[in-house]
Amino acid sequence: MAAWKKELGWTFLLLLGVAVIGSMTGLFIPLLFVLIVSLLIWQIIHISRFERWISNGGRGKYPKAKGIWEDIYYHVYQIKKSEKKRKKKLGKIIDQFRKSTDALPDAAVVLGKQDEIEWANSTAKNVLGLQPSDRGQRIPNLIRFPVFVRFLNTGDFNKTIIMPSPTNSQVTLSVRIVSYGAGLRLLIAQDITQLRKMEQMRKDFVANVSHELRTPLTVLKGYLETLRELDEPLSPLLSHSFQQMHEQTERMQHLVDDLLLLSNLETKPKKADCVNIAALLGKICTESENFNDSPGRIELTLATDANLYGDEHELRSAFSNLLGNALKYSPKDSPVKVRWEQTNTTVALHVEDQGEGIVDTEIPRITERFYRIDVRRTHQVAGTGLGLAIVKHVLLRHDGKLVVTSELQKGSTFSCHFPKERLC
Ligand code: ADP
Repeated sequence: MAAWKKELGWTFLLLLGVAVIGSMTGLFIPLLFVLIVSLLIWQIIHISRFERWISNGGRGKYPKAKGIWEDIYYHVYQIKKSEKKRKKKLGKIIDQFRKSTDALPDAAVVLGKQDEIEWANSTAKNVLGLQPSDRGQRIPNLIRFPVFVRFLNTGDFNKTIIMPSPTNSQVTLSVRIVSYGAGLRLLIAQDITQLRKMEQMRKDFVANVSHELRTPLTVLKGYLETLRELDEPLSPLLSHSFQQMHEQTERMQHLVDDLLLLSNLETKPKKADCVNIAALLGKICTESENFNDSPGRIELTLATDANLYGDEHELRSAFSNLLGNALKYSPKDSPVKVRWEQTNTTVALHVEDQGEGIVDTEIPRITERFYRIDVRRTHQVAGTGLGLAIVKHVLLRHDGKLVVTSELQKGSTFSCHFPKERLC
């Protein structure tokens, strides 16, 4: 039987006893009074014992009790026991989490709503110079690099910033922030010194090789020209061989030129003059038509006379590549539309052709270096596979982006979007 039913049963029996004895002795009311007061005192004693036990943290075995109080003690004791077990388990998990984050090669710092440090792993001590005593301090007061403070203030955490380590300027860090929970943020700083060194080595290697190849190529081309222009008639075999050699040296020259241009885009500081885009596009269209032997194919529309801050030489390379591709990868008699326009949010150059188009799955890859779609098809068209990589880099250096839309057998549109802040 449940304890409270038992308790109720006892009370009822006592009341019955009092009623029987009371009716026999005529002392019902005084007896009832004595019973109620006794029951009250009994309950008060138990309540006070319970209060003493619980205010001591309910530690150890509970005091002996009878009836419903035994049940109450038992249940509270069980709740406390399972709570203790849960705490122990949670403690273990937290301990394991601490150990694993401490073993992380990256620095991890939990930041509160006011950018205050709530927790940091041990790598954060070495890499960011944070001490256990810095807990609760605002991180921009400890790491004062302007790039880092700006990053925290703007709150645009889709980006990653690169900054030197506050403890060692030779170490380069890549810093990311991930928001989670209610206003909490996790800062992760990764040591990318080796990666940067390798990247620099790659850039230097490409720049050096391209540069060193230039002179022998020029010499080769010069001798080939001389041989081709000899007065003596050449045998068909020799004439074919010279033609092949000429074509291949031309191809190599384009490759070296494109590689050098790309390497310059990666290493040279940016220039920003006010570039007259309308005039530039006019020149490029004429040049491209002449170079690709396609007179009258380009339809240029200048819907705006907006000019851009930027590097004329770089913009020329990017636009020429897009126009060259549109002419190369579409039928000889099809038009190529070039439109320079301004919308509410951007200024854009659209180059639209009526060529074979590009499959959706290939579009993300065409800006990769040396990537050419369907090598068999493109082999008949001269190219290095570096043109769109150059376009992408130039646009990056001008805060712009390339958007490609294409439909198979209908054509493609390559659009260069620039932010309005670039207008001049
Ligand atoms: P390439 O020197 O081969 O033209 P790009 O980097 O300029 O190198 O272009 C990469 C590949 O993207 C090309 O090989 C071609 O397959 C595809 N491509 C570029 N522009 C167009 C276009 N307008 N229409 C169809 N395919 C194109």
